[in-house]
Amino acid sequence: MSTDSDQIRVVTFGCRLNTFESQVMRDKAAEAGLGALGGGAILFNTCAVTGEAVRQARQAIRRARRENPAARIIVTGCAAQTQAKAFAAMDEVDLIIGNHDKLHANAYRALPDFGVNSTEKVRVNDIMSVRETAAHMIEAIDGRARAFLQVQNGCDHRCTFCVIPFGRGPSRSVPMGAVVDQMRRLVANGYREVVLTGVDTTSWGADLPGRPSLGRMVRAVLRQVPELERLRLSSIDSVEADDDLLDVIADEPRFMPHLHLSLQHGDDLILKRMKRRHGRADAVRFCATVRRLRPDIALGADLIAGFPTETEAMFQNTLSLVAECGLDHLHVFPFSPRPRTPAARMPQLDRTVVRERAARLRAAGEVAHVRHLDAMVGRTVAVLVERPGFGRSGQYTPVALPRDRAAGSVVEAVVDGHDGTRLTGRPVPAEGALRGAA
Ligand code: SF4
Repeated sequence: MSTDSDQIRVVTFGCRLNTFESQVMRDKAAEAGLGALGGGAILFNTCAVTGEAVRQARQAIRRARRENPAARIIVTGCAAQTQAKAFAAMDEVDLIIGNHDKLHANAYRALPDFGVNSTEKVRVNDIMSVRETAAHMIEAIDGRARAFLQVQNGCDHRCTFCVIPFGRGPSRSVPMGAVVDQMRRLVANGYREVVLTGVDTTSWGADLPGRPSLGRMVRAVLRQVPELERLRLSSIDSVEADDDLLDVIADEPRFMPHLHLSLQHGDDLILKRMKRRHGRADAVRFCATVRRLRPDIALGADLIAGFPTETEAMFQNTLSLVAECGLDHLHVFPFSPRPRTPAARMPQLDRTVVRERAARLRAAGEVAHVRHLDAMVGRTVAVLVERPGFGRSGQYTPVALPRDRAAGSVVEAVVDGHDGTRLTGRPVPAEGALRGAA
C-alpha cells in the first residue's frame, strides 16, 4: 500500500552531509503533506563543488520533468543556494529552497502555483546569517547499511577554490548531547556502523561553550553508546586534528582504522595560493603519526589536479606526496573554477592539461590502491555488508563476499586475494570467528 511519502522522491548529489540531509528533507516534506499532492514531488538536493556536479543536476531535472509532467520539482542544496537565479530560470523547476530552509517542514508548505514567474519560486535566505545547527533527528537513512550523522555544518575558512562556505554559511556545531541522542536512536534502529559527518568536521566545538574538541566528542559518544560497534569520521582537515582525536585513533578499536584527508595538493606554494592551513611537511608528518599510532589504518585523500599556476614541477610534488604519505586511495578532482571564488580569477591552465594531470594522478591512485590491497591479503577483517556480495572492512576497503550475507550485518572474513579494485573475503565459520578482527 503506497503512502504519501512514497510520492516524494529525493535525488541526492555530493557529500555524505547531503545524504543525511536528504533523509531529513524527505521526513519534513512528508510532514508538510507534499506527498499528498497529485503527481507527487521530486526534490533535488544539489552539490556545487564542481561545475560537473551542477551540470549533472540540471540534466537530471530536465529529464525528471520530461518523465513526470505533473510532479512538483523542488531544487535545493549548495548549487541552489549559490546559483538560485540560474535554477529559477529553468521552466522545469517549481521552487528553489535554500540550504537552511530545506530542513524545515514550512519550506514545503504553500507551494507557488505552476508556472509562476522566477522570483516567486525562489525561497533562499542569506545563509551567512544562520548561526545555529539544530539537531535534526532521523530514524534511518533509507536503503543504507551504514548511517550518517550530522555533527557540524558550514565553514569559516576561505580556501580560494571552494564555494562551499557560500552554500553552507558559517561553521556551527550540533551540541554533544544531541549527537549522543541521535547516535542512540540510530543504534537502537539496528545500525552497527555510523559516520559522523559535516563540512569542516574538525572545527566541531569551536562555537560551543568551553570549545570542546572533536576528539572529546568522539570519545564521549563511544563511552555513552557502548552498543555502537563501528564509528567513522567523514573527511577531516589533518592540520586541525586534535590530540584527543589522536588518542581515540590509537586506543579505541570501535573507531574504524580509516581516515579520509582533505590534503588538496603536495606543493607548498600552491597550498599557499589555495589558502590551505597546512604545508606539505605537515601532511607527511600527520600521516606518519597516525600510522605509528594505528598501524592497520588506511588513509585516503582529496587531491586537486590542474590548480591555476600549477607547473609540471609543482604537479610532481603532488604525485610524490601519494607515496610519501603512504596514501591508500585518492579522490581526484580536476580543478573546476567556481563562480565568485578567487581561484576562478587566477590564470587558468588549459583544460587538456588539467584533464591529463587528473588522469595521471588517478593512475597513481590506482597503483597506491593495489599496493594497499596486496598488503591486506592474508588478514582477517570485519566487513560491514552493504548489499548481498559486497561490503567494506574497517579500513573502508571494498570486499567481495558470498551473496548469502544480509546487508547491515558484520562478517568476519579472511582476505584470500583481490582483483585490483576490491578484496575477496572468505567468511570465517561462526565457531571459528575471531572477535575483534580488523
Ligand atoms: S575547509 Fe576549505 S575546502 Fe573545506 S569547505 Fe571550507 S573552504 Fe571549502
